[in-house]
Amino acid sequence: MSSTFRAYRVSKTDTDTATTRQVTHISEDTLATFEDNITIDVHYSSLNYKDALSATGNPGVTKTYPHTPGIDAAGIVQTSTSDKFQAGDEVIVMSYDLGMNTPGGFAEVIRVPASWVMPKPAGLSLFESMVLGTAGFTAALALDALISQGLEAEAGEVVVTGASGGVGSIAVALLAAQGFEVVASTGKQAAHDLLNSLGASRVVGRDAFSEASSRPLLKGTWAAAVDGVGGVALANIIKSLKYGGAVAAYGLVGGAELDLTVFPFILRGVSLVGVDSAECPMAKRVEIWHKLASDWKLTNLDAITQTISLDELDEAVEAILRGEILGRRVVDVRS
Ligand code: NDP
Repeated sequence: MSSTFRAYRVSKTDTDTATTRQVTHISEDTLATFEDNITIDVHYSSLNYKDALSATGNPGVTKTYPHTPGIDAAGIVQTSTSDKFQAGDEVIVMSYDLGMNTPGGFAEVIRVPASWVMPKPAGLSLFESMVLGTAGFTAALALDALISQGLEAEAGEVVVTGASGGVGSIAVALLAAQGFEVVASTGKQAAHDLLNSLGASRVVGRDAFSEASSRPLLKGTWAAAVDGVGGVALANIIKSLKYGGAVAAYGLVGGAELDLTVFPFILRGVSLVGVDSAECPMAKRVEIWHKLASDWKLTNLDAITQTISLDELDEAVEAILRGEILGRRVVDVRS
């Protein structure tokens, strides 16, 4: 008989409009199987916006239920059929299909193919790796993309939208730690002090970017931007980049449409750089995680980190969908 473990399990039938969610014991038989199987005792996971979409039945994220969300997991290899990993190795698994249609990290055990598994970098603990999680990794990918576009600290202000969110808050901290002048845009009055403490040189309201404009160009203001909002906000940012500026776009909490002309691109030479963590190749993952564990290591994330148990997840799922969460929720799956 296979053993059981605790998981935050989401159920939905084809006719249900809403999901039902509970922390329950499930059997290892419910885990996926692959050509080579790495079974991992999960110690920590973290909550990302995508997890909340999966937990609430968004078919663009998860097609088949019952399901265990959780796109992030950090833990210790229990068994391995691959010679790349041995029992006892400390590892990170992030994105690919984890938590989407493969049972994810909101559980004490996951099973994934070896190609999704990364050794935990020495400079981070399992807990610290999940304070960052997909959010921190995505923020670091965005910074890396802007630097690749030639962004230098002297270039001027870099605006970060959705700045109190998971990716946004870490982007503020990372950019500031690397010497950039960061302007944090937030819809939360209560987040201003925190964003200043992460290194923002000033904080502006979300409404600075929320009015649609028919003008093809706006006053050139930003050297660069990291945007998780999309829609009108992203269009406004592209129109108000300075000559040669770049925006790293990773999210769509405010909208998926992009209503623009080509003028910002052909008159100001600006760049729109897409950021994707989910299918990011393993070599790039290792490079970025190595930076996060060394030169880019952040030591000021305590104030934006709250640790929760599996039993406290459901409330956090609702809160992240309402845009209310400030910073990161690490899930201590064994507490
Ligand atoms: P969070 O919920 O933690 O952060 C999103 C933030 O956006 C909120 O905290 C809020 O910040 C702001 N916000 C929320 N609703 C709105 C709105 N209607 N209009 C404008 N701003 C809003 O989510 P994550 O950081 O986990 O993810 C953010 C986005 O990035 C999601 O779309 C997610 O799917 C995507 N994502 C993409 C990745 C990739 O690889 N491309 C990886 C990770 C996430 P504030 O109150 O400060 O304005």
